[in-house]
Amino acid sequence: MPGMMDTILNLGLNDTVVEGFAKLTNNPRFAYDSYRRFIQMFSDVVMDLPKHNFEVIIDEMKEKKGIKLDTEFTAEDLKEMVLHFKEYYRSAKQEEFPSDPKIQLVESVKAVFRSWNNPRAIYYRRMNDIPYSWGTAVNIQSMVFGNMGDDSGTGVAFTRNPSTGEKKLYGEFLMNAQGEDVVAGIRTPQTIDELKSVMPHAYDQFVDICDRLEEHYRDMQDMEFTIEKGKLYMLQTRNGKRTAAAALKVAVDLVKEGMITKENAILQVDPKQLDALLHPQFDTKKLQEAKPVGSALPASPGAASGRIVFTAADAVVWKERGEKIILVRLETSPEDIEGMHVSQGILTARGGMTSHAAVVARGMGTCCVSGCGDIKFTSAKTFTLGGVDFKEGDALSLDGSTGNIYAGAIPTVPASITGDFSTLMGWADEFRTLKVRTNADTPKDARQAVEFGAEGIGLVRTEHMFFEVDRIKAMREMIVSKTEEQRRKALLKLLPMQRSDFEGIYEAMEYRPVTIRYLDPPLHEFLPTDEDDIVNLAKEMNLELAELKNIISNLHEFNPMMGHRGCRLAVSYPEIAEMQTQAVIEAAINTIRKHPEWKIVPEIMIPLVGEVKELKYVKDIVVRVADKLIAESGLDMHYMVGTMIEIPRAALLADEIATEAEFFSFGTNDLTQMTFGFSRDDAGAFLSHYYDKKIYEQDPFARLDQNGVGKLVTMACKLGKQTRPNIKLGICGEHGGDPSSIEFCHKAGLSYVSCSPFRVPIARLAAAHAAIKEKNAK
Ligand code: PEP
Ligand code: MG
Repeated sequence: MPGMMDTILNLGLNDTVVEGFAKLTNNPRFAYDSYRRFIQMFSDVVMDLPKHNFEVIIDEMKEKKGIKLDTEFTAEDLKEMVLHFKEYYRSAKQEEFPSDPKIQLVESVKAVFRSWNNPRAIYYRRMNDIPYSWGTAVNIQSMVFGNMGDDSGTGVAFTRNPSTGEKKLYGEFLMNAQGEDVVAGIRTPQTIDELKSVMPHAYDQFVDICDRLEEHYRDMQDMEFTIEKGKLYMLQTRNGKRTAAAALKVAVDLVKEGMITKENAILQVDPKQLDALLHPQFDTKKLQEAKPVGSALPASPGAASGRIVFTAADAVVWKERGEKIILVRLETSPEDIEGMHVSQGILTARGGMTSHAAVVARGMGTCCVSGCGDIKFTSAKTFTLGGVDFKEGDALSLDGSTGNIYAGAIPTVPASITGDFSTLMGWADEFRTLKVRTNADTPKDARQAVEFGAEGIGLVRTEHMFFEVDRIKAMREMIVSKTEEQRRKALLKLLPMQRSDFEGIYEAMEYRPVTIRYLDPPLHEFLPTDEDDIVNLAKEMNLELAELKNIISNLHEFNPMMGHRGCRLAVSYPEIAEMQTQAVIEAAINTIRKHPEWKIVPEIMIPLVGEVKELKYVKDIVVRVADKLIAESGLDMHYMVGTMIEIPRAALLADEIATEAEFFSFGTNDLTQMTFGFSRDDAGAFLSHYYDKKIYEQDPFARLDQNGVGKLVTMACKLGKQTRPNIKLGICGEHGGDPSSIEFCHKAGLSYVSCSPFRVPIARLAAAHAAIKEKNAK
């Protein structure tokens, strides 16, 4: 969790020790610099006295002495600074700064343990699926010092470029400094290449170590080092955080270099990271026409347009209002993590390529342009750049690949899978055994999903085809119909719409399988609420306004999610299933006539089934209508009828359900809702309390609850196979696009997962991860 937890440096110093330290090193300036750093850090991390208050003291001293840089302070200045710091501490805390090294140590250890629970660590864990229960260890280690003078320094470096993946040493260092100074971005660091001329010996040795570390870990390394009086020390190394584009390039390159296998390359790329590459990119033509108002470091790639906000807290508020935002900060700090996460892009005035903003943004896959020194803040919420004045709410665009900054919003175009991305996806497809389908309701979504590698559609939500203004009218007519005659009239209007929609989807999917789910409208989403809509509907249906209002109020449900939806509608009104069957089968017949080579086998899916008899009731309608139409067509055409498993009772009785169902698709949205008894629409309001109290760590609607809901899934698979050994099993709830849930689906023996088009590549990679991990475990 880089940067999420706390550290205390220079521990053990007090008024006595510092004297000895100064003598021992023959360097009083260094000794007092270390001491003042310790007081500052200990006060901040252990005692909750903000770092900033100490910075104010430093700035005042700089002003008084007429200097700009920390390095210009003399030993005497630093000695004086220590006095000021301790004075400030005494007045703020009403006690002396602790001078006993044992107390310093024990308090620091406690503080590091506490930091496991600071808000940014909690947020980071939720974002990255790291369980709270893991807890932390505390390392205590002796130090080497980069602040011993001009023959000392410290830096961070990556063996490859973490932004692009290019195989070239990449990093920054500062002479006469400690690590904090590099990350804080107060002094501008030098690039690692410059170390070659500053300290050739240390540089050569460093390059050598980098090669050895990569060779050992077989992955790009992120290293921290310190040079103490000309001698190089490595402080730490870890696999480096990188952007999605860099992850793909590094993985593919390492295979080409013979360092790793394709399997390892696949495992090196986090499926969730791909998300960043699947979103729109700037329209190249429009980008060329636009003139940048400024440019700075391309810290994390991506195309971001949004409205300017200036604080992380505002970012969260604006995002909740549905705004796309660009967070503009002097520099970011770990407290800003949530605000950064909800932003489209981040722009900072200070900080290098390894500053907090840059490192964290890359980890999140968020576009970031950092260190734009040309930004002049004119107030807390206004700035000028390139002669243009900007204020809160103004539109701004950032190109994280070039570092260019543009006024206004630049239009974007959809992403595509090419180059290293396409290579790695090809490898993933070689290893995965789970098929990946998509949830799509329109030909456009279906085409996008095929572009991203979908092998079929696992869920067409037919009610979603009626959300458009001109269509919802007919849908509403059907819903409020009092008689079968009225309903059939409305259904006749819906029939051609559905048939042509299905034809469009079959065209888009060509030979690939398509599962069409029958109407499952939670009534409250479709009933009119607007007075004008109600008046018009009454006219259309020749009803008195009062009478229609009465019907609408009778249709009001107290628990809409458990109300008159799914197959219950077809049980009450069989003509709905008749119409839908006609639409599906006729669309398939028309498409087969055009493209006989496609061998279309419609998969008809009945939702919200809890009892085999209700499934049979609806299935009988389907079979009657479908068989008649197929016979009339003279085609040799087949279809399947299956069900969703989304009610716990269906999972419990899956062996019975399978006597009628030719396939199961787990609707884990409803299955989660009904297993937990949490309303899908309302749980958001209280789940955050559950996270705070560590009752749950994850949203069960986003990540499958493998213990509870998962048990039902596994059981239903087993029972279903008992009755029908070759039953086809899939999942189409939101979990079908979530990597950890996909691993579960693989283990449970499902044949496919189905997810929204933009998650298809993520699912393909996650499915490969699951297959490779299983193989490795064996
Ligand atoms: C489900 O319940 O998981 C599902 C896919 O159906 P819907 O989300 O449409 O209720
Ligand atoms: Mg459902």
